[in-house]
Amino acid sequence: MIAGDAAHQTPPFAGQGMCSGIRDAANLAWKLDAVLRGAASAALLDSYQAEREPHVRAAIELAIGMGRVVCTLDPNAAAQRDAGMLAAQAGGAPTLPPMRPTAFASDCVLAGSPGAGELFPQPTAGEAPARLRMDDRLGDSACLIARTPVGGTVAGVRLLDVDADELAPFRPALLAWLDRHAADCVLVRPDRYVFGSGAPRVLLDAWAQSLNPATPAQG
Ligand SMILES: Cc1cc2nc3c(=O)[nH]c(=O)nc-3n(C[C@H](O)[C@H](O)[C@H](O)COP(=O)(O)OP(=O)(O)OC[C@H]3O[C@@H](n4cnc5c(N)ncnc54)[C@H](O)[C@@H]3O)c2cc1C
Repeated sequence: MIAGDAAHQTPPFAGQGMCSGIRDAANLAWKLDAVLRGAASAALLDSYQAEREPHVRAAIELAIGMGRVVCTLDPNAAAQRDAGMLAAQAGGAPTLPPMRPTAFASDCVLAGSPGAGELFPQPTAGEAPARLRMDDRLGDSACLIARTPVGGTVAGVRLLDVDADELAPFRPALLAWLDRHAADCVLVRPDRYVFGSGAPRVLLDAWAQSLNPATPAQG
């Protein structure tokens, strides 16, 4: 597996080179960990390229677009550029093409369920230096976050509900996400991308299946 600049390089204009490498590492680390612990089959690693390549391409396209803006040397072309950007701004349109990476489409998300493959929010609470991020409370594992408590235990998945004490500061943001996706429950991967939303049992079964694709689905 390769990650970071060894896998892709970008013009510097969007400041996304290291960011892309960090995203690679976040995507790959939990998968390697799961495979090495025997909690997932090696086929899980196939999702790394499928998920990261479109995102990195989007970042590089953005950087190329920004480069075209700032590297204009011809005064006439620069004047046209400025006029175009000012007109776009006056009309409320974006002045640069936004970076719009698509949601992940791989075997490691529950395709078709609302929010699947999107980055999950990272709400914060309090002020620096005591600012709390939701990650500080979620830990490193996958998390199932439901509107109401889901009983039992599941290896490798933290079962939480929006009324759990540790999630109290983030309850409004979590409820807003669930409302926006008309979902009772969301399963968030260790890299904080959404595996899928829907009924808890369906999510947990699909998650187990995605970690071990050769295993027939249970229930
Ligand atoms: C001027 C400049 C400004 C930048 N600004 C930004 C920015 O604002 N935001 C941003 O996100 N990114 C920025 N970047 C990009 C960012 O620096 C790189 O994307 C990032 O450092 C890549 O990290 P990496 O670990 O993948 O590779 P590298 O940082 O290249 O690390 C690879 C390491 O492997 C070592 N190595 C190589 N071969 C071997 C070998 N055979 N055995 C052992 N070790 C080896 C190298 O010595 C090096 O230490 C900028 C880059 C430059 C040059």
